[in-house]
Amino acid sequence: MQGSDFIEPAAPAARHSRQVVVRWRDHAVTIGGGAPVRVQSMTNTDTADAIGTAIQVKELAAAGSELVRITVNTPEAAAAVPYIREQLDRMGLHVPLVGDFHYNGHRLLAEHPACAEALSKYRINPGNVGKGDKHDRQFGQMVEIAARLDKAVRIGVNWGSLDQELLAQMMDENGRRAAPHPPQQVMYRAIITSAIESARFAESVGLPAERIVLSCKMSGVQDLVSVYRALARRCDYALHLGLTEAGMGTKGTVASTAALALLLEEGIGDTIRVSLTPQPGEARTQEVVVAREILQSLGLRAFNPSVTACPGCGRTTSTTFQDLAKQIDDFLRAQMPIWIERYPGVETLKVAVMGCIVNGPGESKHADIGISLPGTGEAPAAPVFIDGERALTLRGAAIATEFQALVETYIERRFGPGAA
Ligand code: SF4
Repeated sequence: MQGSDFIEPAAPAARHSRQVVVRWRDHAVTIGGGAPVRVQSMTNTDTADAIGTAIQVKELAAAGSELVRITVNTPEAAAAVPYIREQLDRMGLHVPLVGDFHYNGHRLLAEHPACAEALSKYRINPGNVGKGDKHDRQFGQMVEIAARLDKAVRIGVNWGSLDQELLAQMMDENGRRAAPHPPQQVMYRAIITSAIESARFAESVGLPAERIVLSCKMSGVQDLVSVYRALARRCDYALHLGLTEAGMGTKGTVASTAALALLLEEGIGDTIRVSLTPQPGEARTQEVVVAREILQSLGLRAFNPSVTACPGCGRTTSTTFQDLAKQIDDFLRAQMPIWIERYPGVETLKVAVMGCIVNGPGESKHADIGISLPGTGEAPAAPVFIDGERALTLRGAAIATEFQALVETYIERRFGPGAA
């Protein structure tokens, strides 16, 4: 290929950020500074219900959340935090807990030292720490406790609770300009200024920059992208990324994916959370599933073997291949908690389940192991490809079971203790 014809493979850019280590006892989660992009989540239980909250933290951690945030909004919630921590420790679960504070965090942390100790990180919203001369004093109190106890802090600006005094001041200054900027620009600047000035203030109180994570969450995709691009240019703090109030179901998933993918591709974002509103009956863990899928789809991390399946079309008049694709996907996901220990690297496995001869053999050859099922009118035979070579052909009613067994055998051979 001629030099000018060379097609540059897409790959996420790298942004240098300071590394923050969030600890609980011996368990450490590194954020930024080249560490893998971390997945976070948040409970929606009443934190005062310690058992209910501990159970949900366990579920979120089991789904793959590397840090879990819990609301700390009342004395009862603060009193429950050490008990939640104890329950998790008893289960051998050392996932760091992040306390989410608004309005009264300075009092809760000061009056509940066991809560301050049991949390590994505090999330402080500078728009919700008090007004006027109380702002710096109360914000400073929380930061001092974090600095003394060796805790990390996320300074989390949210455009829905932006510091209104700062915004009003910046709007006034803008109004006095000969050529004022559009109000949207002023709001963007106020959000970024609030985050960076709060971080500088936290440093002046004694919290090292290596213990600070910033976030500026917005609910509009283009707003979020604009703000984070500017924020990333203006500082080297580790950044937590998320589209706030993303919404429900498909809309929340797609909007979060669009926003996060754009920024992660530019190397912006050291931790992520997908703020999905659970649909009635939907598990809270769905936000973790989506966050992991975003990172895996972008090639930033690998969590589960991937199953490539075609969408089906008029050449597949039965649901056989859909059933098989789902069965294999469910099987792989269900096995992962065991396999991740037993078969190092299994998360990179690629499986293809295809519906007919048009793309089936080609796609299956590109996978580690793939099957091309017969489409309508094709001979009832399903060739299986292993490492790019046609290995055998399955026939009959037991294709699904036999293919699953072949996948297991492949995993044992490729990733098992005796693998080369
Ligand atoms: S592989 Fe076959 S069944 Fe699947 S979408 Fe393509 S043509 Fe349709």
